[in-house]
Amino acid sequence: MSTPDFRTSWIWKDGDFLAWEDANIHVMSHVVHYGSSVFEGVRCYPTPQGPALFRLGDHLRRLKESARVYQMPMAFDGGDLAEASRELFRRNDLDEGYLRPLVIRGMGALGVNPAASPVETYLMCWSWGRYLGASALDEGVDACVSTWFRPAPNTFPALAKAGGNYLNSQLMKMEAVRNGYAEGIAVGPSGLVSEGSAQNIFLVKDGAVATPALDGTMLGGITRDTVLKLCRDLGIAAVETQVPRESLYAADELFFTGTAAELTPVRSVDRTPVGEGVGPITRTLQTAYMDLVRGARPDPRGWRDLIGQPARVEVA
Ligand code: PMP
Repeated sequence: MSTPDFRTSWIWKDGDFLAWEDANIHVMSHVVHYGSSVFEGVRCYPTPQGPALFRLGDHLRRLKESARVYQMPMAFDGGDLAEASRELFRRNDLDEGYLRPLVIRGMGALGVNPAASPVETYLMCWSWGRYLGASALDEGVDACVSTWFRPAPNTFPALAKAGGNYLNSQLMKMEAVRNGYAEGIAVGPSGLVSEGSAQNIFLVKDGAVATPALDGTMLGGITRDTVLKLCRDLGIAAVETQVPRESLYAADELFFTGTAAELTPVRSVDRTPVGEGVGPITRTLQTAYMDLVRGARPDPRGWRDLIGQPARVEVA
């Protein structure tokens, strides 16, 4: 096996730092068979004050909430995980990258009931470039409307970031790539726009920003929340609302948000160009977002968590 480019020296497991090659699980682990995991993705950026994890506390809070939905008792509180995350970046000598907290059901019993399978917590990190391609942030990406729907509310809980949910995302993503698009946008069971395979979606029309309201078919993205708050800070009108599919084709601007995707403009949907190309509101918000994560913009909400210092955010 060639060395993957996400290889580092250390992975944290349940309180210990393991050598990367020793962080293995057994094929009879519950998670392998039934998708029983919850996880997070957090980016670390270089800032003038040193590397900082962006909204680490909020990501760890969402991890805990996802674990509660699936009744996975967590042995570590957010403060422990925040400290271990910072230490992991220091040990791996990374000053930018992506942190993946992962909670799984390990090997215990093979029935569907996960209760007898132990809960194991891992933290790993790696260097990760632009999720949707090197030119995505500048030039935007081509997207399609997926033929796959997001699951209905009260089926797969969409607000929980669980491994099993990503089977639906994989179907969307494979279809999009197979047909020459960078990403798919799914509607929910009602036919209204939901989200991308791993991003939330925003529209701009007549100078105002809109994003689908959290309706039980999509993840409550932390980047989505950041962008809504940046809109408020910048005096840009923004609403969470119902978004019919046809609004995608009539929008002046469209963009994806996500920790991995950051703020990626969408330049076409189903081969229909979006507005005049990457628009001014998208660019303003993208610049504000990148400045915020990289320490070039004030951080009044304490979202930048320097890896070289004790936690700034209280994590319950
Ligand atoms: N929706 C889905 C399905 C995702 O996987 C992600 C990425 N975590 C998002 C939205 C964006 O969430 P966030 O901004 O918290 O990364």
